[in-house]
Amino acid sequence: MTVQALRLVLGDQLSCELASLQHLDPLHDCVLLAEVAEEARHVPHHPQKIAFVLSAMRHFAQALRQRGVRVEYVTLNDPANTGSLAGELQRFVQDVRPQSIHITEAGDWRVEQALNATGLPITWHAATRCICSRGEFARWATGRKQLRLEFFYREMRRKTRLLLDANGAPEGGAWNFDADNRKPLPKNVRGPLVAHFPPDALTSEVLALVAEQFSEHYGSATNMDYPVTAHEAEQLWQHFLAFALPAFGDYQDAMAQGEPFLFHSRISAALNIGLLEVRRLCADVEAAYRAGKVPLNAAEGFIRQLIGWREYVRGIYWLKMPEYAHSNQFNNHRTLPDFYWTAKTRMNCMQQSIQQTVDYAYAHHIQRLMVTGNFALLAGIKPQAISDWYLAVYMDAFEWVELPNVIGMVMHADAGYLGSKPYCASGQYIKRMSNYCENCAYNVRESTSERACPFNALYWHFLMRHRTLLAANPRLAMVYRTLDAMPEAKQQALWQRAETWLSRLDAGETV
Ligand SMILES: Cc1cc2nc3c(=O)[nH]c(=O)nc-3n(C[C@H](O)[C@H](O)[C@H](O)COP(=O)(O)OP(=O)(O)OC[C@H]3O[C@@H](n4cnc5c(N)ncnc54)[C@H](O)[C@@H]3O)c2cc1C
Ligand code: SF4
Repeated sequence: MTVQALRLVLGDQLSCELASLQHLDPLHDCVLLAEVAEEARHVPHHPQKIAFVLSAMRHFAQALRQRGVRVEYVTLNDPANTGSLAGELQRFVQDVRPQSIHITEAGDWRVEQALNATGLPITWHAATRCICSRGEFARWATGRKQLRLEFFYREMRRKTRLLLDANGAPEGGAWNFDADNRKPLPKNVRGPLVAHFPPDALTSEVLALVAEQFSEHYGSATNMDYPVTAHEAEQLWQHFLAFALPAFGDYQDAMAQGEPFLFHSRISAALNIGLLEVRRLCADVEAAYRAGKVPLNAAEGFIRQLIGWREYVRGIYWLKMPEYAHSNQFNNHRTLPDFYWTAKTRMNCMQQSIQQTVDYAYAHHIQRLMVTGNFALLAGIKPQAISDWYLAVYMDAFEWVELPNVIGMVMHADAGYLGSKPYCASGQYIKRMSNYCENCAYNVRESTSERACPFNALYWHFLMRHRTLLAANPRLAMVYRTLDAMPEAKQQALWQRAETWLSRLDAGETV
């Protein structure tokens, strides 16, 4: 067959608006999609995540074919499959000898490196799905020793003109309403019922394949209940707009037993692979606010996650890779406790957050940051070990978004490049923002007894052991003053109790 342009579409680029699919000539061009073992296995991805990506790829290929596009699709168990994206690209180039090869910038550094290493003359297209290009972010970051989300976010608000008034000032007189978004969930409030997406024939086929080939991976695919097409993703989005967005702001940081999703959108995985488009989502949220359907703290809070945090972490990732992945300012060495994989722990907050991760390949931001992340930070887990865990277990996990969240936001391993202070907290924070402590084997009000909440002593131990690096941070001045005001005996008791927890972790005991 003669092919003018070969257009490789990666598994997280499933959008007809993709830059490399523009100017596609259906008579002479060919689109290539390949399911490869290297991507499915480079960490032990949750089977629901593998099934989600493969099923979405197959549906996308089907949709392109229905529009008259010539698609070459390589399945995971195709005997000719070389097992890597680079290998498949080379194989097809040899086969069809295209006049040109087109790919949109990859999400992950590793993938782009591997494709470039083929030496093939690839025409790279900018990832226009993002609001801030790699170059634009690099220009913004130039000359800044540390970056701050808040300033970047304001630039993005000005650029997109989202939630600005006629004079270009922020709607409501402030850029950020985060202070309104920290309410715990009142006892009588429940999240909306979740929208369901039962598997169709194509997804069922993929589920069988995944069950057969990835049975050793963490979690199971049987609960898979997530959109795999742009149409389904739109249904998920509309459900969120109507039923969850109004309370998203108020309860953004809340956690509750048996409420895995609360008022969160669950759109991250669909968005990350191209089934939803970020500008459209933000426009819908702004429209809902202007129509009086949602309060400003909800609309601003949601838009900040998308054009602020999401673009910010992508910018940092591409600016700082590959060395960013090895950051470890606290010099942590501890391995990841087994209960991150099994959910077998007596700490109820950890048990709940990990169990829902096993069940749904999902946890919301505060569970990731202030429960599983906070514990890893306090316990001194090696950043690369906890990062590999996050990359494996969440349906939405792609390195460009996962890595800076873990290395920078959770582990503060980048010496404060991404954020101004570590998000370390004792059990008191979890008690304030959730009802987990009510059902826990540990007592959140105690710090040094055998029954005491492990987060408490570990929190003070973290601050004591990293005093040299952290005490000068003005945002931690108050906690160091509190620590210094404690009687020496109390400080020693906290240190000893934390040492006990850490040695139990090292011995592989259940905590
Ligand atoms: C340790 C850690 C690891 C994370 N790993 C990932 C990951 O691999 N992939 C991923 O998409 N998100 C990641 N996040 C960010 C965030 O936790 C998820 O995007 C969010 O929980 C997804 O659920 P949701 O769609 O219901 O989000 P909502 O709470 O409804 O938020 C809306 C959207 O905002 C975006 N968003 C919110 N916070 C962030 C953030 N910190 N960084 C980037 N985007 C954000 C997401 O696209 C999300 O869908 C991580 C956060 C932490 C603390
Ligand atoms: S007492 Fe401590 S370990 Fe238990 S749920 Fe509360 S914060 Fe978590």
